[in-house]
Amino acid sequence: MKTSVLGAIHVLGMAKRCRAKVLQASTSEIYGDPEVHPQPETYRGAVNTIGPRACYDEGKRAAETLVMDYHRMNGVNVRIVRIFNTYGPRMHPFDGRVISNFIRQALYGEDLTIFGDGSQTRSFCYRDDLVEGMLRMMDAPDDFPGPVNLGNPGEFTIKELAEVVIELTGSRSRIVYHPRPADDPERRKPDITLARTRLGWEPKVPLREGLRRTIEWFRSIDMAHYRPPTPNY
Ligand code: UDP
Repeated sequence: MKTSVLGAIHVLGMAKRCRAKVLQASTSEIYGDPEVHPQPETYRGAVNTIGPRACYDEGKRAAETLVMDYHRMNGVNVRIVRIFNTYGPRMHPFDGRVISNFIRQALYGEDLTIFGDGSQTRSFCYRDDLVEGMLRMMDAPDDFPGPVNLGNPGEFTIKELAEVVIELTGSRSRIVYHPRPADDPERRKPDITLARTRLGWEPKVPLREGLRRTIEWFRSIDMAHYRPPTPNY
């Protein structure tokens, strides 16, 4: 919360003084555990304000508010993109997210840890597609601050993801089930109509292809180099 909000204030203050353009990397987390599916930018979200994820979610929501206030009141040139789950080579193997966990586990022959029954869904965007969307947003007309969803609308259950990772790595790992974290969103999929219309953007890399490239990178690195002193997964 502190980082999102104070960081935004500092960046916006500086952008106002220097007349810089600001790209706010917002997130699908601002939709919380959504009641609307897929999620368009007009959906205002369902965040549990007192839940364990609220610190991040509410921080990002407040940051969007600040960005728009600086835009309206101080004429700061801003862009807000709402980034959905993203992955790809050079992601941190120990970031604790599902794709890095599954690939790491599969390559080491460890059990793949599914939280819950694996029926919850996510839509995974390959990093090059996301970067292209961000660049297009920065080049969009100044009267279009967004917010704009950037994500891949291909929706998969976590169980499907585990199975694909096992298949693509050729791993003999098994799948095990652990309790689901509190407030873990049930379904998530971006409505990217706005990005298609205003930016002429849509993702190009399907999940299997993106996973292949990511697995190849995971195979090429020395995982020990990345291992955190205190595991966060
Ligand atoms: N997840 C899982 N096993 C893991 C890590 C995550 O089943 O080892 C699940 C998690 O509960 C969530 C989904 O995968 O339902 C995506 O989790 P992640 O932390 O990658 O992203 P987010 O929840 O922020 O979308």
